[in-house]
Amino acid sequence: MSADWCYDRTLETERNTGMKRLFINAVIWGRTDTAILTEGEKIRRIGMTEELQKEAESADEVIDLNGLFVCPGFIDSHLHLLEYGRYLENVQLHSCTSRQEVLNLLKQQEKKLPKGEWLLGRGFNEELFDDPKMPTKADLDQISKERPIAVTRCCGHKMVVNSKALELANMDEDSMVEGGSIDFENGFLEETAITVLHDSWPAETEESIRRSILRGQKELNRYGITAVGSDDFMSITHDWRLVLDVMMKMAFRGELTVRVNEQCEFPSPEEFAAFLDEGYTTDVGDDLFRIGPLKIIADGSLGARTAALSKDYSDDRGNSGYMVYNRSELETWVKLAADYNMPVITHAIGDRTVREVLNVYDKYVIENNLLHFGLVHCQIMTPAEIKRTIDMNLCCYFQSLFIDSDAKILEARVGSERAESCYPFRTLSEHVIACNGSDAPVETPDVMKGLQMAVTRRSLDGTAAMNPSECMDLQQAMRSYTLSGAEAFFSSDNIGSLEEGKYADFAVLDRDITKLREDEIHTAKVMMTVMNGETVFEK
Ligand SMILES: [Zn+2]
Repeated sequence: MSADWCYDRTLETERNTGMKRLFINAVIWGRTDTAILTEGEKIRRIGMTEELQKEAESADEVIDLNGLFVCPGFIDSHLHLLEYGRYLENVQLHSCTSRQEVLNLLKQQEKKLPKGEWLLGRGFNEELFDDPKMPTKADLDQISKERPIAVTRCCGHKMVVNSKALELANMDEDSMVEGGSIDFENGFLEETAITVLHDSWPAETEESIRRSILRGQKELNRYGITAVGSDDFMSITHDWRLVLDVMMKMAFRGELTVRVNEQCEFPSPEEFAAFLDEGYTTDVGDDLFRIGPLKIIADGSLGARTAALSKDYSDDRGNSGYMVYNRSELETWVKLAADYNMPVITHAIGDRTVREVLNVYDKYVIENNLLHFGLVHCQIMTPAEIKRTIDMNLCCYFQSLFIDSDAKILEARVGSERAESCYPFRTLSEHVIACNGSDAPVETPDVMKGLQMAVTRRSLDGTAAMNPSECMDLQQAMRSYTLSGAEAFFSSDNIGSLEEGKYADFAVLDRDITKLREDEIHTAKVMMTVMNGETVFEK
């Protein structure tokens, strides 16, 4: 497939049917209007129900929302759509409260799988167990020694595998990988070692990828999400051409029910150069699927203590995490992207990593960040990095949902003094484009929970909190899930707010969230999701 395949879109697809749909008696976020008229993919008019009812006769459909609450379709600015769909197809371990529960769920699934197929699971967080220990190779070997088993921690940066999986990946006592680690005795893999293991999985096909994307986007629509920044080229296969091909075909056929801004990740600068050589760069595509920035992962996670800090972890002396790339390696990626006017967004969780990334960005960010370079996660930052991030006007992709589990470990990991300036979401949102998201499958992409945590900075059970001076107000939190994402993607002319002429992308909630107590926001339910003028989810 060549890059100009997507420029050559002369065929009109079937999805724009020109249908006129009138939604009446709504309560609309930020407006006094109560009705929306859509035509085809776009919002044609917004006004009062009495006024727009004149259009009822010519409308194909009139939907009485009976006082339900309408807000712009939510934008999850950073997640992994393909991997999330695949996660939903495997054993989901997010809600496990003990190691035994993890093993029981895996055991149940093991019995159902055909012979030889991998048993895959994801999502446990041992920090939430009474006995905070990961399952080990020995535990998994008890489930099966014949079948390969791989189980990923919630953060995605650490994995445990059984003997069979190690054997298939050709890993033994002496195996080493750059930018990662292999603990053969316990079966623990970190960072690039996980990528090496992926190579021994069964090959992906067009159909297996399409199936997972369909599964993932369906679930996103249930949360009112209509657009995503998605990092997919490295998540379950290294074959970025295959993933790109499937995504573009799905967009072309009108099969995507979320708009995708692809955050392009590659196994090596050489592969990235091949992508550029084939003519791909930021903005290639259309309003359903578009190539976004280059995505780099520069360190690990706070939960797994692999994020690179400038001083040791407070609860693990002698360990300050590690960076996946040194400065010159980072610069190789950034320079290559900048040469092609492609912005870079970098996963940087520890303050040491953030500082190194800023040092490199400093040379390549031009004209007040015209290209929208960005930082993904924005967690462990000192006031110095926060100031530099604002001075460089970087786009900040943060995840308020992380507060649920991280509020419980932050002070232990970094001490109370460093914790003060961490997760500075309000400060960032007051100065730069700060867009929210879930990093799914790292977190469940539940927007209502994310809004609540942005506003309260408390875990859902209320027991743990982060520095309250960084609580966002509801207006800021809503913006972080709507217009800010659109701005980061250069799509604010088309999406991110409810306005005449923009795409008809919106979520209908069962309650007016402005009338709820802060700790009740998560109870609001999405009743309907409309994307491109079509209902893609209905309760
Ligand atoms: Zn991610």
